[in-house]
Amino acid sequence: MDLTGKVAIVTGAQRGIGQACAIKLAQLGAKVAVTDISEEGCLETISKIKDNGGEAKAFKMDVTDIDNIKEVKNVVTKEWKKIDILVNNAGIFDYEELEDMTKIDKILEVDLKGLMVVSKIIALDMVKNGYGKIVNITSIAALIGSPKTASYCTAKAGVTGFTRSLAVELGSNGINVNAVAPGAIETPMLAQAGIDEKAFTAMVPKKRIGQPEDIANAVAFLSCDESDYITGQVLAVDGGYTIM
Ligand code: NAP
Repeated sequence: MDLTGKVAIVTGAQRGIGQACAIKLAQLGAKVAVTDISEEGCLETISKIKDNGGEAKAFKMDVTDIDNIKEVKNVVTKEWKKIDILVNNAGIFDYEELEDMTKIDKILEVDLKGLMVVSKIIALDMVKNGYGKIVNITSIAALIGSPKTASYCTAKAGVTGFTRSLAVELGSNGINVNAVAPGAIETPMLAQAGIDEKAFTAMVPKKRIGQPEDIANAVAFLSCDESDYITGQVLAVDGGYTIM
């Protein structure tokens, strides 16, 4: 797999899965716009990429702020001429009680609406260029459901519908739209979810918790031309958890 000459944007890339995706795409030769809620937060990812000889720039890009997204898109395309790859990774997770109505909007705003708006803004340029790879990070939570996470599961299930619709809409424009559904992956978000890692591992056929690099490898494949005939798909990267 080779991404030499390609330009990628990764959202929520200051740590965790987003950071691993940015590093992997840069390793394969892409120039990477590393974006997150704060520009300073992205500097660790940038230095890891540069230490490996890759090319990257940090941007503050809040996926709920349309003006901010357009501004970053304009700067990246001015600097690097185009955007070939978009990895929609930014996300938040929170538990909610049944009577709690306060978290619904925020979770849907970041995890679903934000991903849709970023995709639409960047896809317009991809359509003009006749080329694009969009990879959305969803979750196995969308496939199986879990208690006290209705908004998160709903948002991630929405990402699946959006992925399929956009894939149909943009297929004839040379654009692939796919999603990766991580299982339990060792990141700060997993720590926040507070799952019992030992009990969970016992239920995973591969008998381990996933690493951010496991997701980055799948994202890299879906960002490369080797996956050109794959679109509108959701690839579970979960050690086999959802086949049990
Ligand atoms: P993480 O470590 O919490 O990283 C998520 C990143 O997104 C953070 O840097 C966060 O920044 C950023 N972010 C939050 N709101 C944002 C916004 N409005 N605009 C831009 N960036 C924003 O989580 P992760 O585990 O790497 O998760 C990455 C993706 O994988 C998420 O979509 C998550 O739902 C999905 N996922 C993770 C797992 C898992 O087990 N880890 C499983 C299934 C799916 P701040 O924290 O500074 O706000």
